[in-house]
Amino acid sequence: MTSFDAAIFSTHSSIKSGELDIAGVLATQLAADYGTPLFVVDESDFKARAKGWNNALNSAFGVSDGMVYYAAKSFVCKEIARWVSETGIGLDVCTGGEMAVAIAAGFPMDRVELHGNNKSEKEIRTAIEVGIGTIVVDSFHEIERVSRIAAELGKVQKVYIRVTPGVEAHTHEFISTAHEDVKFGFSIASGAAWTAIQEIRKSSSLNLAGLHSHIGSQIFASEGFAAAAVKVIAVLAKYRDAFGSELPELDLGGGYGIAYIPGEITLDPTVVMSELAAVVKRECAAAKIAVPKISIEPGRAIVGPTTTTLYTVGTTKDVALDNGATRRYVAVDGGMSDNIRPALYGAEYLAIIANRSSTATQINCRVVGKHCESGDIIIREIQLAQDLVPGDLLAIPATGAYGRSMASNYNHLTRPAVIAVKDGKARLIVRRETETDLLALEL
Ligand SMILES: *Cc1c(COP(=O)(O)O)cnc(C)c1O
Repeated sequence: MTSFDAAIFSTHSSIKSGELDIAGVLATQLAADYGTPLFVVDESDFKARAKGWNNALNSAFGVSDGMVYYAAKSFVCKEIARWVSETGIGLDVCTGGEMAVAIAAGFPMDRVELHGNNKSEKEIRTAIEVGIGTIVVDSFHEIERVSRIAAELGKVQKVYIRVTPGVEAHTHEFISTAHEDVKFGFSIASGAAWTAIQEIRKSSSLNLAGLHSHIGSQIFASEGFAAAAVKVIAVLAKYRDAFGSELPELDLGGGYGIAYIPGEITLDPTVVMSELAAVVKRECAAAKIAVPKISIEPGRAIVGPTTTTLYTVGTTKDVALDNGATRRYVAVDGGMSDNIRPALYGAEYLAIIANRSSTATQINCRVVGKHCESGDIIIREIQLAQDLVPGDLLAIPATGAYGRSMASNYNHLTRPAVIAVKDGKARLIVRRETETDLLALEL
């Protein structure tokens, strides 16, 4: 039985007289005013989650200067960057493009951190010129580049070293980042991380402030985070033994899991942070080093649950299966161009009819898009009301992270608009692309 699930939809979503209401605005009204497909962000929910992680981090570690960097890659636009800025937390960017959004939004650059395993000289130069807080270095080539460019600009750049602690995170291979055989970071086990530390210490234009570890995304097992912290703190202890001083900061990355389908849970920041703090404090005490200033980088856990995608059903088609059963293909007006996660990672989603209630029998359905691929599936298997017809609205919750941000123009579809809703009011924050936008690139 598929129905509205408050644990998956954004905090201010509910069913009002059979219709989905998001922060006081009916889904039917949003679809009528802005068209579909549409990304609808629950603004207060976003800010509450951002603050929630910040408060949880600080109270678990008993400090006031812990740093949450919102991972821009999960979804960013100027308005979101302003919300992040207002909340007082930082921003983690990975490319010149994401940095450009931060700059355009007037984001305080000292609260920005630059990631990426292959930053260009131009990206590095821009970052240092605009006074970016931290650059997380990811290769020996990059140590040379950041050191040289900072020297040219007459600056001393604060850096972290990204290390791979050799932890197998229990998540999809493509979003698992801390085992040995990955493109990211410097391996602790092979000694590369230690060599990187020595290289950076030789440079007078680099200020090594700490280490960084990010084990992957959509992770639920706290052992993964704990195991990584243990490995990284061992390096901090070795650093103190070798150099007689302590690295003051430690960034433990993001990756906190959220609920997509009934039965799953969204990790509670208070629980996750207190577990992490316990491990970090224990390990630091054992190594007799001070607990460093901790930062984390949640993306999905802040924006993921806040956003719902609205689609309009265009066609339905019944197909006979080998086992004699029937599957109804429900085709919507978007697909893999606005949500690639099912095709890329086998991700699962929930959908409900958003424009009315139905007491009809629920039947075996597959929700697909309008692209020219059989793999253009949004939900492989779901029970939906038999009386679902073209023109009905489908709402898919928890699409805030890696939805719009991974959107493409495949088949020359135009990327959907993003709407913020709050206290009964809706406003456009990213307009829908038009075919004129697409053609404007052509010479
Ligand atoms: C992707 C990424 C994040 C954010 O991951 P979430 O699963 O969205 O929390 C944080 N830090 C780094 C380095 C990343 O690559």
